[in-house]
Amino acid sequence: MLYKSTRGYEEKVSSASAIVNGIAPDGGLYIPESFPKLDLDKCLKMNYQELASYVLKMYLTDYSDAEVNCAVYKAYDEKFVDEVVPVKYLEGRSVLELYHGRTLAFKDMALSILPHLMKKASKKLGVEDEIVILTATSGDTGKAALEGFCDVDGTKIVVFYPSEGISEIQKHQMVSQKGDNTYVFGIKGNFDDAQSAVKSIFLDDALKADLKEKGYQFSSANSINIGRLVPQIVYYVHGYLDHVRKGMLNLGDFMNVVVPTGNFGNILASRYAKEMGLPIDKLICASNENAVLTDFIKSGTYDLDRKFKVTNSPSMDILISSNLERYLAFIGEDVPVLMNKLKNQGSYTISPSGKEKMKDFYASFATERETVLKIKEVYEKEAYLMDTHTAVAQVVYDRYLEDTSDDKPAMIASTASPYKFTRDVLKSISDDLLLDDDFELIHVLAEKTGLEVPEPIKYLAEDLVLHPHVISKVSIKNTVETILR
Ligand SMILES: *Cc1c(COP(=O)(O)O)cnc(C)c1O
Repeated sequence: MLYKSTRGYEEKVSSASAIVNGIAPDGGLYIPESFPKLDLDKCLKMNYQELASYVLKMYLTDYSDAEVNCAVYKAYDEKFVDEVVPVKYLEGRSVLELYHGRTLAFKDMALSILPHLMKKASKKLGVEDEIVILTATSGDTGKAALEGFCDVDGTKIVVFYPSEGISEIQKHQMVSQKGDNTYVFGIKGNFDDAQSAVKSIFLDDALKADLKEKGYQFSSANSINIGRLVPQIVYYVHGYLDHVRKGMLNLGDFMNVVVPTGNFGNILASRYAKEMGLPIDKLICASNENAVLTDFIKSGTYDLDRKFKVTNSPSMDILISSNLERYLAFIGEDVPVLMNKLKNQGSYTISPSGKEKMKDFYASFATERETVLKIKEVYEKEAYLMDTHTAVAQVVYDRYLEDTSDDKPAMIASTASPYKFTRDVLKSISDDLLLDDDFELIHVLAEKTGLEVPEPIKYLAEDLVLHPHVISKVSIKNTVETILR
């Protein structure tokens, strides 16, 4: 299996090269040249780790079986409490709980394994340099990448987060990060400032040459890396098969999936699973009030001319969904032309045939108010507690049912633990004034719901701050140079 760039100007590369490079030299994203087919009968007997090895081996054909197995078993070990991905069955739909990893968000599903894949790739390619992962984060990616790369030989990880504008819990998770190869800095600026500084470092040839001499090379842990996308296909197959094993579906029956979407990585993985033969009918794309994808899926026009809004589902506050580029290539659009239009005019429209191919997508969005009310409704009716992102998906799924009366079994991807967004979740189900800090509220939520506090944040308040530094946004490059001196 080889990987090509969405922009089409580069030679095809092996999966190891695609993973180490992160992004193609022409600025495009790596995509598989074909989609292997699943043998679902065979999959039915596999546990999560076996299934992950089976799917990964089809895509990472330049890795040996032993290398893939080793990465899988190191990634999905006892870090995941109980099952790796439990499926919960509610009235008329199920919830695929993707948040049982170390950082309580679905980013762990891919970032637990990416470091192992990257380390093996660099060995395979004879890269002798130490790999330096630079990450700008608005909250979830930073911590998941830190946990994943912590103490992985031959790597360093540097994370920049906005010192104001992330939740207290998200911030403390990062500044208390252990490990000899981890570096975390708050910056006086927002996520975009961090992101553009990091991007400019990636493009700084003089700096790269200088660091090469010192034995370093940069890479990315963002979802532009194909090594993050492939492991996400696995849990859709796992979720479907769980329905079959529990008698909710017969093998071959179709289901719908509902995905709270930001960068379009998670929902794209479900589309790839469908292409591999997983019986998925509709893909329901749920957005918050930054509903650029809802408008795109409905109209075929992607238009950036709108105001960015900070919402109570912050991990989906995004206007440029980078993985959509992969989907545009998938439906045969002329990606370089569309990306140029986006850059120069702030919008693009896909072809009528591309629009036709998008018919298996449904899209809508939830307001903050609808999200809060949905958390309360589901909790009161079914004693099931959703985080804000999952509740966005539930709002949109309910709208889909009203619009279509399609009552096929549906599986909702749940992307974060309610404890990761304790304040907003608690506000939804309680009339009390929430005067305590977020660490206290963790215990208030536990008391109120009886839901056990997840191990990784149980003693979070007691963890020492190991990374106290907050720097100005203009000194990001300088900071990287100092670390790597
Ligand atoms: C990252 C994230 C999302 C969005 O996922 P994409 O793959 O970017 O679409 C949704 N919910 C949570 C909690 C996240 O951390």
